[in-house]
Amino acid sequence: MAIFIAVSSNCLARDPKLRIREYDLSAISAADRLQARVELTRIFRKAGIAISWETGRSSAREAHNLDTSPKRICPAVGPAEPLVVRVIPRTPTDSVPDALGQSLPFACYGVKVTIFGDRVQKVAGRAGVSMPKLRACALAHEIGHVLLRFRDPPHSEAGVMLGLWHRSDYDLIEHGAFEFTDADAAAMRTTLLSEGLHERPSQ
Ligand SMILES: [Zn+2]
Repeated sequence: MAIFIAVSSNCLARDPKLRIREYDLSAISAADRLQARVELTRIFRKAGIAISWETGRSSAREAHNLDTSPKRICPAVGPAEPLVVRVIPRTPTDSVPDALGQSLPFACYGVKVTIFGDRVQKVAGRAGVSMPKLRACALAHEIGHVLLRFRDPPHSEAGVMLGLWHRSDYDLIEHGAFEFTDADAAAMRTTLLSEGLHERPSQ
């Protein structure tokens, strides 16, 4: 079922739309999950990208399908396909230290973004920020890696695509002011419009 979160949109008719199918395998409340979705929707709206949400069943095979083949480089999924993300309860033992999630930008099927629910909870408590807001920013960052996947280096000097977040960034997150840079936003829109990882903009 598609869920469209009602927000006062600044998106123009020509702005691309990104469908996200979320599998939440963590145990957060429905209210926190909704708050995270609203926050992520707001972050992308500021970047000129409209988000629509679908909720996947946690038992679905797709939620556990990871294409980690290093030799495969697939184009972004087509217009009919959503971007598949998931939140898992426990951080894998082989994850990058302190990372809140990971992405598979070149995956040909299955999950492209995974967020580590326990680590988001832990860092939110340590940094004194709202867990749903931090989860939204972590998700936005990893989705950014998918939409900016040919860029080298993958991180930016400022904004959501910063490689390391510091006190000042957590303050922005808490105040709902952590955003993509204009350059990152433009590059993501270009990817969506050129590679088909979007719904067609309304006319
Ligand atoms: Zn990153």
